[in-house]
Formats: sequence, C-alpha cells, structure tokens
Amino acid sequence: MSKELTIVQATNPKPKPHPDHLGFGKYFTDHMFVMDYHKDNGWYNPRVIPYEPITLDPAAMIFHYGQTVFEGLKAYPTVDNRTLLFRPEKNFERLNRSCERLSIPLIDEEFVLSSLKELIKLDKEWIPTSEGTSLYIRPFIISTETNLRVSPANTYRLIIILSPVGSYYPEGIHPVGINVEKEYTRAVKGGTGTAKTAGNYCAGYKAQASASEQGQAQVLWLDGIEKKYVEEVGSMNVFFKIKGEVVTPELNGSILEGITRMSIIEMLTDWGIPVVERKISIDEVLQSYENNSLEEAFGTGTAAVISPIGELNFEGKQMLINKRNTGQLSKKLYESITGIQTGKLPDPYKWTVEVK
Ligand SMILES: *Cc1c(COP(=O)(O)O)cnc(C)c1O
Repeated sequence: MSKELTIVQATNPKPKPHPDHLGFGKYFTDHMFVMDYHKDNGWYNPRVIPYEPITLDPAAMIFHYGQTVFEGLKAYPTVDNRTLLFRPEKNFERLNRSCERLSIPLIDEEFVLSSLKELIKLDKEWIPTSEGTSLYIRPFIISTETNLRVSPANTYRLIIILSPVGSYYPEGIHPVGINVEKEYTRAVKGGTGTAKTAGNYCAGYKAQASASEQGQAQVLWLDGIEKKYVEEVGSMNVFFKIKGEVVTPELNGSILEGITRMSIIEMLTDWGIPVVERKISIDEVLQSYENNSLEEAFGTGTAAVISPIGELNFEGKQMLINKRNTGQLSKKLYESITGIQTGKLPDPYKWTVEVK
C-alpha cells in the first residue's frame, strides 16, 4: 500500500467566481484529493489532482444501495492572510464513525487531514476573503465496486472537493420560521441518523417542501417513535433557552452529533451559563412559550453556525419567539464562534488549526 501523497497540478486554472455571487456549493476549486480502497490493498494511491468528473460503471454499488458517507467543514481566511480550520480532527473522527455505521472501511484520520491541508495550500487563492465567506470542504466516500449484490463493496473512493461559499447571512444574522413536522421522520434509533450519509438527507425533502409551502424556512424534526420529542431542525442541531437555562436534545441514537453543538455546550459551560442535554418534548416548548419562559431558540451547524428561530408552527399554532428578533445569547454565541474561526478573537479552547 502506497501512502505517499502525489500531487499533479492543474495546467489551466479556472476563472474565480465573483465574491458577491458565491452562493453555496456552486463553484469548485482547481484541485481535488482522491484515494482508493481495495479490500486486498487497504487505502492506496492518495493523490491531489486537477478537479475533474469521475467515471463509474452504471452497476457501481453506490448508485443502487447508497453506501456512502460525507463530511462538511470550512477553511476560514484571517485578516493577516492565514487559513484556519475549526476542529477538523472532529470531522474526520465523525467520518470514521459514519463509515463504521455504513460498513465502509475506516480511514487514517491524521493522514487524510494532512492531505487536506496540502490540497488547501494548493488552492489557497480560491479562499474568498470578504466578510462571512469561506472555503467549504466536502470529503466523501463512495462504494465503487461494479456489482449488484446487496452487501458491502470491496472497493471505495474517498474524494475531497473544495467550494468557495458566500456568507450565510449577507444581510446580517436573522431569525427564520420553522414548521414542526408531524408526518415524516428523519431518523430513528438503530437507523442511520447519527451518520452523515446520503439517504438521511433526500428522505427529508418531502418535509422540507411542505415547510416551504407553509412559508417556513426549515423543518423541526420530532423523534420517529412517539413524535413527541424534539430532535433537530433541518440539518442542524437545536437549542432552546428557557428561563435562563439552555436545553438541547440529548444524543439518543438518532441525532447527528454536531461539532458546532459540542462547541456551544463547551462554551456555555465555560461562560457559566447553565446548559443541559436532555429530552425535550414539543409540548414542553409550547408550554414554555405560553408561560413566557421561552426566551430564545436556535439551530447550530457548520453552514450557519447559529440560525436563530423566530417562529415555530405546530399544529396550526404559531409561536413567535423573542418577537422574531435574534436573541442576545444567540448573537453572542454567533460572534464568539465566528470570531474564533476567523482569528478575530483569541482561541482559548485551541479549536482552530492553521493550514501551513
Ligand atoms: C452536519 C449536521 C449537523 C451539524 O453538524 P456540525 O458538525 O455542527 O456542522 C446537524 N445535523 C445534521 C443532520 C447534520 O447533517
């Protein structure tokens, strides 16, 4: 097994997109990282090569049974032209946990992270620098074996692609409306909800469409068994501030373990703000709203960092949280985390990793 990273530089670099029109995941850089797996070889041939389409046989297993996992993290530009990653080792640990769940062979986390740094260095000019922009990093693994049998593949490919992305909040952080989903389920204990795997996301499209039809931006997912306990919001973890205490659903086997979630819990603890991980029912949220103790609610994830929830729609009842304004704590968390990510604030937790 060869573990030496080879680098092939692109000969005709692409034009860079205009920084005001980046959007999310529309543009990709000049290079990508690729590594293959064969059951007799392990992972082999790690390489950084020019960004290009991949060719697969129509019978490649990925197309039929969806044996695949992915990650999402960002590289942030600092004002002094350095590049920071935010807790990237957590993403590769989680990628391996997803692999484990999907019966995909594990990767060497440190080696892949160091290869990612080489890739980013090569495409450094693609990192946008205006306020709120960043370089989104998408590692993913697909099963590539040509075979229709229903069992784990013998061959896989790991690819990392990079996409310059615009600010999530071009007009500043603002709350969104959420529809509480009563019909569809995102994930159940024993299923794949704790893994970042393709099927979890397309299974949510119908609920997202019905939220959109009702004029709401996102879906609030309830547990799949009793349809009673809050789990996540869209592709984000969720927090409620009730009477000064911050509550987030406990990891229960169907919730994705967000790195932003983990960081917020650590930060609140450090600040001396009470934060608890426990079951929280939608009825409790409704009650706390009705007795005026629901102070703030927000989603958390790499894309938005903090997404304040201004409105919750549940069985025809409309709850306006904090008069649809961004709460003080939401704002403070947003500024603190983005400040650390971009090197504008000190990093007492040693969360950032410089690409150098
Ligand atoms: C990725 C993801 C999150 C957020 O995780 P981060 O590590 O904070 O980006 C939350 N929920 C789901 C379903 C996700 O896929």
